[in-house]
Amino acid sequence: MKTLVVANWKENKTIAEAEQWTDGLNKELRIKNEGSVEIIVCPPSILIPILHSLFIIPNSPLRLGAQDVSKFEEGQYTGEVSAKMLKGFVDYVIVGHSERRKYFGETDDDVKLKVEQCLKHNLIPIVCVSHLKQVSKCHSIKVSQMIFAYEPLFAVGSGKADTPESANEFAKKIKAEVGQDVRVLYGGSVTAENVKSFVEQPDINGVLVGEASLEAEEFAGIVKTIPIRTRRTR
Ligand code: PEP
Repeated sequence: MKTLVVANWKENKTIAEAEQWTDGLNKELRIKNEGSVEIIVCPPSILIPILHSLFIIPNSPLRLGAQDVSKFEEGQYTGEVSAKMLKGFVDYVIVGHSERRKYFGETDDDVKLKVEQCLKHNLIPIVCVSHLKQVSKCHSIKVSQMIFAYEPLFAVGSGKADTPESANEFAKKIKAEVGQDVRVLYGGSVTAENVKSFVEQPDINGVLVGEASLEAEEFAGIVKTIPIRTRRTR
């Protein structure tokens, strides 16, 4: 199983900045895919098509994800982007991010509907959770095809990451509830300085990175810091 490094750009970047970032990252990483790290970039939805064309390079470790998806299949829902529209551009979708829950009133029921839309259209949902209750809410669906991201609220965007041990404990609980094959990421103030301590934990399969993903050089630093010996081959 590959170590996943997810970049969540949130509401940042113009087309020019996105192109510059991609160029910068490719230079930093020299498109050398050892096959053990997968980088999933989640830009604002308007940038998805342009990045899709930029990422089609042989052996590139770059994959695309969306930051959100509509809970509806299609129809009269102004402003929404459906899973069916995203399919063909992205492989992953972040669902239930704490900022969506906080600023847009997204509930566990909404999250469940969004996950169902993703699975219906063969997209992998990366479901952000801060409590085990939110994990149980998804139980009736095909959890083995999902990724969970444990993102404690105090750590998101605060510069104060959780401890690797506590994050691993939470990841272990998710796996105990959902199944050992489910992948669990840690998110919350991940940097090049602390990423190693998280990905070395036995139950953590990667990281979700916000602020530190915005500069290509800094983000490349995170990817390059993942030690080869911790890169899972399972
Ligand atoms: C996030 O956006 O999910 C996140 C973890 O942000 P940050 O890395 O800035 O804490």
